[in-house]
Amino acid sequence: MIDCCSAPGLLPFEDALTNMLASIKPITLNDSETVVIENALGRVLAQDISSPLNVPPHNNSAMDGYAFAFESLALTDSLTLVGRSMAGQPFQGVCQAGQCIRIMTGAKMPAGCDTVEMQENCQVAEPHNEKITFLGKKSVGSHVRYAGEDIKEGQQVLSAQHRLTTIDIGVLASLGVKEVKVMRKLTVALIATGDELKIPGQTLTEGDIFESNSFVLAAMLKKLNVNVIDFGVIEDDFQAIKTAFEQADLQADAVISSGGVSVGDADYTKGVLDELGEINFWKIAMKPGKPFAFGHLKNSIFFGLPGNPVSALVTFHQLALPALLKLQQCEAEKQISLQVKTNTDLRKSPGRMDFQRGVLSVNEQGENVVTSTGSQGSGILSSLSKANCYIVLPSCQGKVKAGEVVTVQLFDHYLI
Ligand code: AMP
Ligand code: MG
Repeated sequence: MIDCCSAPGLLPFEDALTNMLASIKPITLNDSETVVIENALGRVLAQDISSPLNVPPHNNSAMDGYAFAFESLALTDSLTLVGRSMAGQPFQGVCQAGQCIRIMTGAKMPAGCDTVEMQENCQVAEPHNEKITFLGKKSVGSHVRYAGEDIKEGQQVLSAQHRLTTIDIGVLASLGVKEVKVMRKLTVALIATGDELKIPGQTLTEGDIFESNSFVLAAMLKKLNVNVIDFGVIEDDFQAIKTAFEQADLQADAVISSGGVSVGDADYTKGVLDELGEINFWKIAMKPGKPFAFGHLKNSIFFGLPGNPVSALVTFHQLALPALLKLQQCEAEKQISLQVKTNTDLRKSPGRMDFQRGVLSVNEQGENVVTSTGSQGSGILSSLSKANCYIVLPSCQGKVKAGEVVTVQLFDHYLI
């Protein structure tokens, strides 16, 4: 992609994504296991699923009422009640002309019937209840649900590489499918680097901060349904970082570190990685998140996220996540974008693509509008937690005035 607006020396965001995806070899469809559908939520299918039956399997009633042949009502409004069809206990005979059958929602349509009238439109003659009078306007085929109207026998319902949603689990159950072949789970190792980092529960000493990157990344990885090995905080020390990366590479399909990828005095990650694999250290034309490392260790792929919490989260979401989906053989997920007016001025200078944080809402005129969450510093995690969308501003874009139209990308289920 040609992006003449990215500042010199910076790699356009789209190029970083394309280069990265091109170098990833997914695990194969053979790398799968069989799980019962109760345990299949969020797993990636390793097989196509075709329906072994029609859903529903038989014509049935959509209402509690009476079933009959529509023609029977051509000359009369009353029919003789001759039997019942209940859900799971169908009427066994054939309904003849002039007759009707009491029927319940979901019950099989009796032979000889093509129409159902709901009970609210019927009058039952006392005392023997054998004459039913049909009131109101009737139409042929009303309130009948047809065999296969949801899914036809043999129809492909789900495809390999699809991540199973809550609804898919219901669809599989409705087909009578008990278990499915899914891709094995990936294992992802998390490493936080920095002498200043303490984890919640520890005491901060002077100059320390609480570590948050591993926590937010682990939470997002949980939604990706991978096994996480958390290496915790590794001090800014060449040998300690090297040992952690070597251990992580032995155990994981992907290793994700945060911090230490810029060019500060204590940024040892680059030196270690140069010894352990082929890693590209990119300066990506995106904001937040300029420094980003990606490449291959001996056994695993590696992502080096910036340390600043917003940068770590946004680069993980925008870059590492699509790469992990590809590694997992999972279909790419479509991001939902909208064009909406901004309520607020947006600060921006050309040269990088911005993923600013915004709140999408509906104004008094009923229009979608987006409001900036305020200060957009890459350390201000609270700006992200207030947001429900990114305001995506292309590299070339300069500052934006309130009232102008911008592109917003809705937060997906990994973020909320
Ligand atoms: P670095 O990339 O290591 O220079 O870190 C950049 C900034 O992010 C510094 O202010 C760090 O203290 C902060 N930082 C690095 N890692 C983390 C982390 N895991 N959680 C929270 N903040 C971090
Ligand atoms: Mg650091």
